[in-house]
Amino acid sequence: MERNFSLKAPAKINLGLTVLARRTDGYHEIESVMQQISLADTLFFEAVSGSRWHFFCTDQQLSGADNLVNRAAALLEQQAGKALAGVRITLYKNIPVAAGLAGGSADAAATLRGLNQFWNLGLDKTTLLKMGALLGSDVPFCLQGGTALARGRGEQLEKLPPLPFFWLVLVLPTNLQMSTSAAYSSFDLNQIGTPSLHPLLEAIRKGSKRKILGWLGRGFTNTLETALLPGSTQLQNIKRKLENLGLQPVLSGSGPTLFILTEKYSLARVTARVIEQEGCRAYLCWTTADRGS
Ligand code: ATP
Repeated sequence: MERNFSLKAPAKINLGLTVLARRTDGYHEIESVMQQISLADTLFFEAVSGSRWHFFCTDQQLSGADNLVNRAAALLEQQAGKALAGVRITLYKNIPVAAGLAGGSADAAATLRGLNQFWNLGLDKTTLLKMGALLGSDVPFCLQGGTALARGRGEQLEKLPPLPFFWLVLVLPTNLQMSTSAAYSSFDLNQIGTPSLHPLLEAIRKGSKRKILGWLGRGFTNTLETALLPGSTQLQNIKRKLENLGLQPVLSGSGPTLFILTEKYSLARVTARVIEQEGCRAYLCWTTADRGS
């Protein structure tokens, strides 16, 4: 039987993010509507002689033992408690790193799913979700995919109806990466407001494209945006430029990625070109209803 296979590890955006109180464990309590997108890494699982796993990444800087793929594999090995067949895992990195798109979490989730299958461990969804939460706050969402309301530190999920299809343009300033923990420690909650996600949830439950776009057009959809935008002139400039064109760029997660949703492919293409002319990277992709589709 052919045992080799590949899995997609799709990124996410945050359609809305509300940061609530800081917890005693150092994390912030959040509420966020997360959306899976078509931009994805790919993981290959291939049988090799020997036992355990061997990890390779197309991005040299991510090849270390602390890669979330290695950490997910180690966690599964510990859980399995039996001799495991040799497997080579190759990660083809495509999602920009430290961009608020949950690339590492997506890879961890794909590793849990892939090795559960490769090693025939038979772990159910609930067990995988629990293991995912040990690896990172966004890993449970990456295991589940689709559209969800995330609470707690992001690991408590409520599935939402699939978002209607939108084209999506991601805007990435060059040479600007933001660590999630730095983003969360860079502001005082008492100084900035928090958006209520209620109108967005209602729009998604109704499947109303107009209301979803209306939410993004209101300007304040992510608590972290007020804190992070003043720190990057390039982000401010590109945001202003896109707004002047009548577009509605908003920050994904802890940034620095901005995104624009649109129903029109032609508009998405033109927008991507404008972004590149401004010296930023542009990714034209789309929202997806199920993991990997
Ligand atoms: P999130 O949106 O979940 O906060 P992010 O998209 O901002 O995450 P990642 O791309 O997941 O950030 O990377 C954050 C850090 O995690 C990187 O700086 C990198 O050192 C580490 N990391 C570990 N494994 C991976 C991986 N497989 N892909 C990307 N980064 C990884």
